Amino acid sequence: MPGKEYIAELGDWQGFAVGTTGRLDSDASDAVSKVWIELFPDRSRPVSCSGCGGVVESVHDWTQRWVRDLPAWGAETSLLVHFRRMKCARCGTAMEEIPWLSPYARVTKRLAQSVARLCREVPIRHVAEHFGLSWDRVKRIHKAYLKEELGEPELSGITEIGMDEFAIQKGHRYATVIIEPRTRRVLWVGRGRGREDVRPFFEKLGKQACEQLQAAVMDMWEPYEQEVRMHCPNAKIVYDLFHIKSKYGREVVDRVRVDEANRLKRDRPARQVVKGAKWILLRNETNLRPNDRIRLRELLAANHRLATVHVLKEDLAHLWDYKYEGAARRFWKAWYDRAIRSRIEPLKRFAKLLKERLPGILAHCKHALNTSVIEGVNNKIKVIKRMAYGFRDDEYFFLRIREAFPGNCG
Ligand SMILES: [Zn+2]
Repeated sequence: MPGKEYIAELGDWQGFAVGTTGRLDSDASDAVSKVWIELFPDRSRPVSCSGCGGVVESVHDWTQRWVRDLPAWGAETSLLVHFRRMKCARCGTAMEEIPWLSPYARVTKRLAQSVARLCREVPIRHVAEHFGLSWDRVKRIHKAYLKEELGEPELSGITEIGMDEFAIQKGHRYATVIIEPRTRRVLWVGRGRGREDVRPFFEKLGKQACEQLQAAVMDMWEPYEQEVRMHCPNAKIVYDLFHIKSKYGREVVDRVRVDEANRLKRDRPARQVVKGAKWILLRNETNLRPNDRIRLRELLAANHRLATVHVLKEDLAHLWDYKYEGAARRFWKAWYDRAIRSRIEPLKRFAKLLKERLPGILAHCKHALNTSVIEGVNNKIKVIKRMAYGFRDDEYFFLRIREAFPGNCG
């Protein structure tokens, strides 16, 4: 072992000196070596309170705590940290401030930071393995780190929001995420998707900020709409393309596909082709592999009704390209007439639904928010959920969503 001064210098535990040290090497070849280092506070350093940062004159007592640090010398490293507690006039009994250790933490700040950085990239169990920590401990470390790092979101100056729901745990329960679409920042995440579930956000935003809100982008979901109307008298409701496209996929394309498969009962091969085409019909055509694109082309050439709903799907998306409401309205009228004349019931139903909600669709002309932001957040949440298999902790899940979308300008 090198000299204590060297260890202290290399260890960089500011304000602390090294006491005894030791190393435990296991005989078993697969076991991990352990290093422990005892640390004492430098007595010449003024004692300040970890609660408020104020300098405190009198020490109340001494105590100690085992703390894990980053691995050193190829071994798991534990520190036995001796520190002082004081009676602070403002905070009561508090521990002294240590720059590299949070008041109640059992890991150093730099270890917590490394854990957090790795958690963004790989599943928790890999992080646990890497640092020789338990799964639960990694989760606890990361959660505490995120809580401190993210703090309360800044809500001032917000003029537009995007609202979206997502499923927790195999779709049994739902939650709502609220974002600022221009900066891609998550402002709020909460359980549920009903009016009362999202109300805390608007209460937090405050009356004045609610009145400044100009637009709320969302799926056609009544509870969100009603809640926005109630709190934000000046906000326009804007429906985003991503949600309307997926609704069209479910309620028109897939409905027609099932109907066509049923109609082809006597023609087994054709029926199988239609039945198996769910995925290539719902996917964005640009994302299809060349082979699948050929399959899609053949299917559409053979099936008139599927071809009609497919073409109308692609055309509907162009409605979101318009910047002038008059032009958008003319385009809409033409699309609507084609849909109604198609004699395809699910398509007609969908067109009538959109007609009722036309203001929310045309509102995107004035509030041209990039709707792919909502799609991006939606997809990313699914990735986080997959990586976080076994979370069972909504609060942690929500913190991770906020972590993934800190905003461009922050
Ligand atoms: Zn204090």
